Amino acid sequence: MPGIWIYSEDSVVARQLLTAGQELKKTMQQPVNIITLNDEAVQCLASAGADKVFLLKGANPWPESYAAAIADMLDKEQASVMLVGATLRGKDLAAKVAAILKAGLVTDALSIQYANEAIETMRLMYGGLAVRTEATALPALVTIPPRTFAEAADAARCEITTVEVANEDSRVTISNVCPIVHEGADIVTANRIVCVGRGLAKQEDLYRAEQLASAVGAEIGCTRGIAEDYHWLPNERYIGISGQKVKPELYIGMGISGQVQHVVGIRDSKIIVAIDSNEKAPIFEAADYGIVGDLYKVVPLLTAALQKK
Ligand SMILES: Cc1cc2nc3c(=O)[nH]c(=O)nc-3n(C[C@H](O)[C@H](O)[C@H](O)COP(=O)(O)OP(=O)(O)OC[C@H]3O[C@@H](n4cnc5c(N)ncnc54)[C@H](O)[C@@H]3O)c2cc1C
Repeated sequence: MPGIWIYSEDSVVARQLLTAGQELKKTMQQPVNIITLNDEAVQCLASAGADKVFLLKGANPWPESYAAAIADMLDKEQASVMLVGATLRGKDLAAKVAAILKAGLVTDALSIQYANEAIETMRLMYGGLAVRTEATALPALVTIPPRTFAEAADAARCEITTVEVANEDSRVTISNVCPIVHEGADIVTANRIVCVGRGLAKQEDLYRAEQLASAVGAEIGCTRGIAEDYHWLPNERYIGISGQKVKPELYIGMGISGQVQHVVGIRDSKIIVAIDSNEKAPIFEAADYGIVGDLYKVVPLLTAALQKK
């Protein structure tokens, strides 16, 4: 039976995709089903408002091993559309499933609707300078970034069907896993962020950002150069089109020019404060409050004033 299918290895993201799926359901008049490989998440997903949850049981959780099984399932069930969380693993899986099904794939969609018998999506182009609208014929796969939609609310528990993966591809095996060590809290969920740019002259001066961050209860983020070129902060701390997209209540940028590739990652912030010595820096166009000045003078004054508060 045709349907709308949801998959993310992250159950929070799966519940966010479900919100998009439920919107599609209103116009497509088709059931919304979730696929999961996670035994532990299955109950939580079953009470999120989907019509059915399918628990896929296989030997290992790598996209190489279960992409064919998911494609098979979508094919048998005549799926109309599959929404996949745009995580690294999700994008990998979506590409593989689309290739097997010879279906269209749209990545990083920020909105989705069903119109004229096609899936219509919008996504950013040219580093966020333009918005592109695409219509994809059914069946279609669409990856959607985490936090694009709010999580679906709790609902009555739906049916759970367990499916054994018959055609598991065992050619890829994992011989060793080296976990990434994360320092501090996740900036994606941080409510306040102090962000460091290349206006900071040297790594030893990071303490200035740390003091400001501690005065406002913020996490530290940075621009790409600070993480990838200088290695002063870990890669998961850089914000922008190729880094993290953040939505804090308060973002304070210090010594950041505000190139579009960075601004794309911060523009959903509620309040943007920019400190930069160049009054023509583009960051001031994105900012709600701007302080033109030397960060080495402004940041200590601001920190002291906030500490008094
Ligand atoms: C494909 C692609 C993807 C990219 N993705 C990302 C991304 O995801 N995230 C990202 O951040 N970048 C990304 N970039 C890089 C991006 O284009 C910019 O180069 C980068 O954001 C600039 O970082 P910055 O503002 O720290 O440095 P700069 O552009 O060098 O700006 C430094 C600023 O500091 C100011 N300054 C200097 N001294 C002081 C002082 N004493 N006090 C106050 N201000 C001072 C200067 O006036 C200037 O405005 C990407 C680029 C490409 C090509």
